[in-house]
Amino acid sequence: MNTDFDLLLAGAGHSHLGVIRQWASRDRPMGRIGLVSAEPHAWYSGMMPGVVAERYQPRQCRVALPKLCAAADVEFVQGTIVALQPETPELLLATGVSLRSTWLSLNLGSLPWVPEQTGDGMEMLSVKPFADFIRRWQQWEEAPEPVAVLGGGAAGVELALAMSGRVPAISLFTAGELLIDHAPRLRRLALRHLGAAGVTVSEHTPIHSVDGNTLIGNGEQCWRGRRLVVATGPSPLEWLRESGLRLDGQGFVEVSPSLQSRSHPHVFASGDCASMPGVARNGVHAVRQARVLATNLSLVAIGQPLRRYHPQAHTLALLADGQGGAMLSWAGLAAEGDVFGVWKNHLDLSFMRRHGADI
Ligand SMILES: Cc1cc2nc3c(=O)[nH]c(=O)nc-3n(C[C@H](O)[C@H](O)[C@H](O)COP(=O)(O)OP(=O)(O)OC[C@H]3O[C@@H](n4cnc5c(N)ncnc54)[C@H](O)[C@@H]3O)c2cc1C
Repeated sequence: MNTDFDLLLAGAGHSHLGVIRQWASRDRPMGRIGLVSAEPHAWYSGMMPGVVAERYQPRQCRVALPKLCAAADVEFVQGTIVALQPETPELLLATGVSLRSTWLSLNLGSLPWVPEQTGDGMEMLSVKPFADFIRRWQQWEEAPEPVAVLGGGAAGVELALAMSGRVPAISLFTAGELLIDHAPRLRRLALRHLGAAGVTVSEHTPIHSVDGNTLIGNGEQCWRGRRLVVATGPSPLEWLRESGLRLDGQGFVEVSPSLQSRSHPHVFASGDCASMPGVARNGVHAVRQARVLATNLSLVAIGQPLRRYHPQAHTLALLADGQGGAMLSWAGLAAEGDVFGVWKNHLDLSFMRRHGADI
C-alpha cells in the first residue's frame, strides 16, 4: 500500500463524519485523502442510552465508514493509531504501518477516566469505545446482577435510567453534585427520575479505586458488587501526551479558533480531543465544528485565509429519561416531558439518516 497522503483524517468522530458528508457533495480538497479509524463503524453517543433501553437497535446508531468514505472519494484505512509524529506528520498504526501526509486532522474523541483497580473482583465496563460497551452490556444483560455507575454527568444519568428494570439494583456515584454543569433545576428533575427508577444516588462521593469487589471513595468502602459501568468525564488519549503537540494542562490538543494546533498549524484537531477556551467537550460542539473544519481543510491546501469556529454561548442538552421522554437543559433553564423525548428522537434519527445509517 502507498502510505503517502495529501490529507489524513485520524478518527471517525462526529466532526469528521460531517466533513466527509460535506465533501461528498461539494468542496472536497484535491488530492489523496484517507480516513483512519480503529473500527469500521462510527457510533453516535446520543443514542447509546437508547440502545441500552432497547429503544434502538445497535445498527441504527452507527455509520458504516467504508460506504460514507466512498461517496467522497476518501480512502478508508482501518487501524488503531498508537503514536503521532507531528513534524512530518506521520501516524503509526498498531500493525507497524506508518502513514504520512501533508495535512493532518485529529478527531479522536476521548476516553472516560478509569479508577485504579486491585485484583479482579469487579468487571469494569467503560462507556467508550462504544462497540465494546454494547457487546459487553449485552452479555451482562443475559445474567443480570447489581450494577454501580460511576459518573454524575449526562452520560451517567441517562445510562442509569436506561438500565433501570434490566438489572436487580443500580447505584450511581458522583464526585460532586449530579449534573453540576447544567441548570440546578435539571439536577432536581434528574434526582426525581432516578428515585422513581429505583437508582440509589451518592453525590459528593469521589470513587478513586476498586479493591477486589469494593469501590473505595473518601477513604471508605462505598459499594460491593461485581459490575461497574464507568461513565466519568472525558480524559485525553494517553499516546497524544507523547506526540510533541502543544497540550493543555489536562492533555488535550490546544487549538486556535481555526481548529489548528497551536504548535503545529498543519495539524488540525476538533471534538473531544481538542482544547479551545469556552468550548466544552460534547457532541454538539464536535458536530458544529465539522463545517468550519471541512472549509478550512479545503482552504489551507490552496493557501487561502481560514475561517474561525465561533462557539455558541449555550448548548442544548436533551437527556433521555429511559421511558421515552427527555429532560431539557439550555441556558440555565431546565424542563421535562414526553414532547422532548419525541424531539430528541427526531434529532437523533435525522442525524443518523444524514450519514447513511441503517435506520
Ligand atoms: C453515553 C454517552 C452519551 C452521550 N450523549 C451525548 C449527547 O446526547 N449530546 C452530546 O452533545 N454529547 C453526548 N455525549 C458526549 C459525546 O459522546 C462526545 O462529546 C462526542 O462523542 C465527542 O465526539 P468526537 O467527535 O470528539 O469523537 P467520537 O465521536 O468520540 O469519536 C472518536 C473516534 O476516534 C476513533 N479513535 C479513537 N482512538 C483511536 C485510535 N487510537 N486509532 C484510531 N481511531 C481511534 C474512535 O473509534 C471514534 O471513531 C455522550 C457521551 C456518552 C459516553
